[in-house]
Amino acid sequence: MTEQATHAAPVCFILTNDFAGQTRGRGFPASAREEFLAQGCGWVPANQALSAFDVIAADNPFGSTGDLRLRPDPATEVRVAASDGSMPLHFFLSDIVRLDGSAWDCCPRGYLKGAVNELRERHGLTMRAAFEHEFTLMGLPAKPGPCFSLRAFRAVDGLMGRILDALVRAGVEPEMILPEYGPAQFELPIRPADPLVAADRAIVLREIVRDRAAREGLRATFAPKSNPAGVGNGVHVHFSLFDVDGRPACYEAGGPADLSPVAGSFAAGVLRHLDALVALTAPSTISYLRLKPHHWSAAYACLGLQNREATLRVCPAPTPAHDRARSHHLEFRAADAAASPYLVLGSLIRAGMEGIAARLPAPTPVDRDPSELPPAELQRLGARPLPASLGDALDALARDRVVRGWASETFWNCYLSMKRTELVQLGKLDTEAQCEAYAQVY
Ligand code: GLU
Ligand code: MG
Repeated sequence: MTEQATHAAPVCFILTNDFAGQTRGRGFPASAREEFLAQGCGWVPANQALSAFDVIAADNPFGSTGDLRLRPDPATEVRVAASDGSMPLHFFLSDIVRLDGSAWDCCPRGYLKGAVNELRERHGLTMRAAFEHEFTLMGLPAKPGPCFSLRAFRAVDGLMGRILDALVRAGVEPEMILPEYGPAQFELPIRPADPLVAADRAIVLREIVRDRAAREGLRATFAPKSNPAGVGNGVHVHFSLFDVDGRPACYEAGGPADLSPVAGSFAAGVLRHLDALVALTAPSTISYLRLKPHHWSAAYACLGLQNREATLRVCPAPTPAHDRARSHHLEFRAADAAASPYLVLGSLIRAGMEGIAARLPAPTPVDRDPSELPPAELQRLGARPLPASLGDALDALARDRVVRGWASETFWNCYLSMKRTELVQLGKLDTEAQCEAYAQVY
């Protein structure tokens, strides 16, 4: 007689979020947790050349050779029990290292760590950051309610409650949950943290939201557009700078938009390299349907003062009672969930440091919709349109020698070959089919 297992053996995963912004990894019986925490597990270099659609770029720099390890970071452990008694969601995020334990130059988490260290060592600065996500629930029988309404929330409150509960248990620190402008679109702001924790949390949040929705027969998608005419899903990155003793370093009353000189230079560095940056922060073909005027996303490289059409927005203290210096911060709006949070934040920090090192003056704040300004006025403000397509953005990345100096040639060859493979594959589809394809994978 064969014995019937009554309980599934719990499985724990070691995960990495790759160049395509996909979270992939390997599982093991959770009973072997200590062994795998100490040893990690194997990984393959060419995995970094996988597109979001699981195509390995043919001209990737690794071919079929090489061996790496995923080394779990114990501080990232997530173990969230499912309310229906099924297997808990249990995983670690990891660094990708060589067999001798040294850092691998194409590890996205290592790329962010390097930028954070340099910000501290070269400039005596630290950052606090938070990724604010928007997502769409697909498969609902009808629009759940008017935009921003309590009704829209109450129609799916059970799922939203389970998402929030799981996020809290996973240490993600959700701040709010709100019905957004799009039909069945929601937003999840979370509390700020150190950059590495902030990026880790963005990955955990996406996994939890998709997992909880899928358990209820719904598809939650973070894709930048769920259909060509629809409202975009953005990932807005909020960040502020502090000195190494924790004193706020972004605010100076009377500066441009009340920014300190160092924050102004940081912002100017981001805007200077923005054409290349968007190839990393908005890296899908349909990201460029979202980065258009009147989408409240970002269509122009400029610094906005209370302006939701600008790439970088200054966010002032929410009330007079707030500590202005501590609350004053920047928001980068030209990112979406097709991007790896590690590449997004690492690249923002790197670009900001270029601005600080060159002592660039703060950009002129723009308080109007830049798409409605005449060319001469745009020029006076130093504002310019963003690349119009992923192809243009990738070309800008390939051309920007400063940006390419932030990581190894192998890193960029891998990234560009993977993205160009995706571009060719998706270029065969109309925009509607592209949106559907991305909604399946993000
Ligand atoms: N949905 C908009 C975007 O794609 C953002 C709207 C807002 O929260 O300001 O970025
Ligand atoms: Mg929003």
